[in-house]
Amino acid sequence: MDSDKSVLVFVERPKGEALEVSLEVLSKGRELASKLKAPLQAVMIGENNQEALTAMAGYGADRVCFLEHPLLRNEDPELYAQSLSRICALKNPAMVLLGATFLGNDLAGRLAACLKTGLVMDCLDLSLSQEGLLLQTRLIHGGRIAGTFISPRSSPQIATIIPGAFEKKRTKPNKEARAEIFNPGLDEVERPLRIAGRIKADPETVTLDEAEIIVSGGRGLDSRENFALVRELAVNLGGVTGASLGAVDAELAERKCLVGQTGTTVTPDLYVACGISGSIYHVLGMKDSKAIVAINKDPGAEIFKYSDMGLVGDAVEIIRAINERLGLRLRKQPDGQPDQG
Ligand SMILES: Cc1cc2nc3c(=O)[nH]c(=O)nc-3n(C[C@H](O)[C@H](O)[C@H](O)COP(=O)(O)OP(=O)(O)OC[C@H]3O[C@@H](n4cnc5c(N)ncnc54)[C@H](O)[C@@H]3O)c2cc1C
Repeated sequence: MDSDKSVLVFVERPKGEALEVSLEVLSKGRELASKLKAPLQAVMIGENNQEALTAMAGYGADRVCFLEHPLLRNEDPELYAQSLSRICALKNPAMVLLGATFLGNDLAGRLAACLKTGLVMDCLDLSLSQEGLLLQTRLIHGGRIAGTFISPRSSPQIATIIPGAFEKKRTKPNKEARAEIFNPGLDEVERPLRIAGRIKADPETVTLDEAEIIVSGGRGLDSRENFALVRELAVNLGGVTGASLGAVDAELAERKCLVGQTGTTVTPDLYVACGISGSIYHVLGMKDSKAIVAINKDPGAEIFKYSDMGLVGDAVEIIRAINERLGLRLRKQPDGQPDQG
């Protein structure tokens, strides 16, 4: 394998297909690699397959490296990081870029520690200095200002990028793209942690970034009592409650429920947005959901532009009707939280 100061992008594909954010990062990687006149290298976990190679070549990858090892079959960020650090030792890339997902941020931190190099997480923008070093821009001081960072003395430069920061851009399929297979030579004894089993999470305690279904409420819900209906709908659907900053600021929901650029980035199978206007800061955190349903009384609300299904009307009435339809048998607890009766 070549050692050529490439731009290396880790492509996440939890269910076989690359995540949108990985394709966005790959597209930005293409732009940076062209400016640096360096190859663009996509790296993914799994066996060599033509379909994945063709898909990555369609976003400008010059090489697609498949990390193959039986120990990588379970999602284990420590083993992923060890494998990536071995690839980096071999290839000496100029930079490593990952999507700022739960796994991406976890992996990037471990990788930076393995390689003793710098890392900037949750970047909004990337560019190059005159010397070809990576300039990494992210929000700081609680989102009030943007700062640009550089790691001039350590290599590779590592960055994670939030979903929606870049457009995913198809290129003319790169016919020269080639697959590489890399066995990281992991050993069972190197595993500090072992996965003893998997338990389906209780929807009441599952966190937003793990949830398959999220029902979020916004300022449009107007009162805690109304917001409790959103929680009821989440419970009824076996999902988790989310919120916009409008709802958090109005003290309708806790900060841990915040979805968006300054909150959690989510990619559930179903995202229901109730009484949320669709500010770009909120949308950046949920637009990669598989299906989005919006309920808003304003037919011109921005949120409808990102939705697969839109319901125009009073969210309180609509959610109440859906809850009744779903056979709701919830008792309200004194604090307004629903409880399954
Ligand atoms: C740096 C920065 C970072 C930010 N980060 C985030 C973030 O991470 N997450 C986030 O959410 N926001 C974030 N924001 C704030 C964001 O810009 C918006 O102000 C916020 O998302 C608005 O919340 P909202 O949609 O609930 O409220 P509003 O904008 O007030 O919208 C309420 C919506 O409810 C509708 N509505 C009203 N009554 C009803 C009803 N009865 N039935 C149905 N619909 C109704 C209205 O038509 C309206 O569309 C950030 C802002 C900044 C500047």
